[in-house]
Amino acid sequence: MENTIGWNFDNSYARLPSIFFTSLTLNPVLSPKLIMLNEPVAKSLGLNINALQSEEATAIFAGNNSPAGGTPIAQAYAGHQFGHFNMLGDGRALLLGEQITPNHERFDIALKGSGRTPYSRGGDGRASLGPMLREYIISEAMHALNIPTSRSLAVVTTGETIIRETELPGAILTRIASSHLRVGTFQYAANWGTEEELKALADYALERHFPNANEAQNRYLSLLQEVIKKQASLIAKWQLIGFIHGVMNTDNMTISGETIDYGPCAFMDAYDPATVFSSIDRQGRYAYGNQPNIGGWNLTRLAESLLPLIHEDQEDAINIAQEALQQYPQLYYANWLAGMRAKLGMFNDEEQDTELIEELLKLMQQYQADYTNTFIALTFDKFDESTLFSTKEFKEWHKKWLARLERQQETKDMSQQLMRDQNPAVIPRNHRVEEALEAAVEHGDYSVMERLLNALAHPFAHTKKQLDYATLPTPSNQPYRTFCGT
Ligand code: AMP
Ligand code: MG
Ligand code: MG
Repeated sequence: MENTIGWNFDNSYARLPSIFFTSLTLNPVLSPKLIMLNEPVAKSLGLNINALQSEEATAIFAGNNSPAGGTPIAQAYAGHQFGHFNMLGDGRALLLGEQITPNHERFDIALKGSGRTPYSRGGDGRASLGPMLREYIISEAMHALNIPTSRSLAVVTTGETIIRETELPGAILTRIASSHLRVGTFQYAANWGTEEELKALADYALERHFPNANEAQNRYLSLLQEVIKKQASLIAKWQLIGFIHGVMNTDNMTISGETIDYGPCAFMDAYDPATVFSSIDRQGRYAYGNQPNIGGWNLTRLAESLLPLIHEDQEDAINIAQEALQQYPQLYYANWLAGMRAKLGMFNDEEQDTELIEELLKLMQQYQADYTNTFIALTFDKFDESTLFSTKEFKEWHKKWLARLERQQETKDMSQQLMRDQNPAVIPRNHRVEEALEAAVEHGDYSVMERLLNALAHPFAHTKKQLDYATLPTPSNQPYRTFCGT
């Protein structure tokens, strides 16, 4: 009977020096109910789908019971929140353990909304149903869009009410990630740990995420370089798809290069680099167009934390770290440019490509063209009467672009195939997500969300049914706003 669910836990993080976590006793909830179960994720983890629908599994997803072999802990970390440095840590989350999959991969299994911990400060440690379903939807959409991300295994309701501005139904999300190591974990070690403890963390991160870098001459420099590469690639993917994370605090930036912490994130409709959805980001620090820069800012905080390990002489360490950081803008730009070329069906590189791309983006901004649908129109050579497409400037740009494609060896069909594979028909449009959440949370009707999840699972299937999800929201004079911490 031991373990019909299929848990196969290890707890390597809990073997780190004790400053990195606090062991927890669980905070049981009243009457948990399983709402969402992600079967493909469960299968890839080596878990038994039937057993996951049992009361025993629900109790685990609710934090009422510990799974066999797990050791519930809250992770300690710090972070710059909107530029201000704070001690943080898992205030409403816990790590159950690391599931070792049948493919010998290691994934953190964590609960979000699981109650108070020593790091909760003033918070209640809880989460409400809407935001947990929202994280489920958007993280799964990101995964289908080929963007590295934490994933969602399950959502349970708690049968308890949580108090925000109003009373809301409580819920807990089970989150899967290749780890929850963050830039902020290193900042915590650098500020409150000994050099030995910092070293233990760095060695752990290297072994877990970059085992090949272990051989490098300066392994800690190579840790920094690897994270720079991962984040340059990740943030370029966000930009290319129009994703706005919304709260790129250093505690929300992973070492693995996965997107994590789906709070106020949202997808951009009309192209505008100044787009911000988060209600608390009043200065636009985390605006769409600022994400690449903030990535660099956060990586600089990681570099600072690693300095004592990079070289014993501080000045040398700074020089070495600076040289590594200088690679970031180039790496980011190379990733972005390669992605943009693919979005526009270009196989080879021409020097004028940058100009051609910038010109299109400028027109999109000027005429408030929808980011996703502009690329879809180009992919299928189907232009509606929207303002951008009827302008002389666009028609001229279009001619230049077609001429550009003709200069490459590949055929028009090959270009179109490339574009189909890069430009999604379906993204989690804000109005669609809201509609699904409203049906689920207000009316207990999960069918809208199920249909949305099905559509989001195949973003590059350009079928008629899918295109139904490409319709834009009706214009509103109230901008879309997102919130964190509910
Ligand atoms: P986030 O903005 O999601 O990255 O969270 C920032 C910090 O606030 C983390 O330390 C969280 O654990 C903590 N936090 C967020 N919501 C709550 C809550 N309801 N109760 C306790 N801590 C919370
Ligand atoms: Mg966070
Ligand atoms: Mg959060």
